[in-house]
Amino acid sequence: MKRKPVNLTEILVEKLVEDLCGKRGECTCETCKADIMAYALNHLPPRYVNTDRGEIYVRAQTLNQQISTDLLVEVSTAIEHVKNHPRH
Ligand SMILES: [Zn+2]
Repeated sequence: MKRKPVNLTEILVEKLVEDLCGKRGECTCETCKADIMAYALNHLPPRYVNTDRGEIYVRAQTLNQQISTDLLVEVSTAIEHVKNHPRH
């Protein structure tokens, strides 16, 4: 079976976008959410790990504690940006 490394930043950003997007009346369509993720991920360093599924969750939590402020700032900026420049 082929194994691919996982980007932990991507997992955390995806979760944050799900949590935050739409809270202040932003559009939550798939296009906008994907644009928000792309914008935030381009501004955050990727953190690739090659590990088992269960361990991904643990590693993501640890990383989240280290960089949660950065994540929050970037995702909030991304939501604001896409809200002002929607492509849908
Ligand atoms: Zn939209």
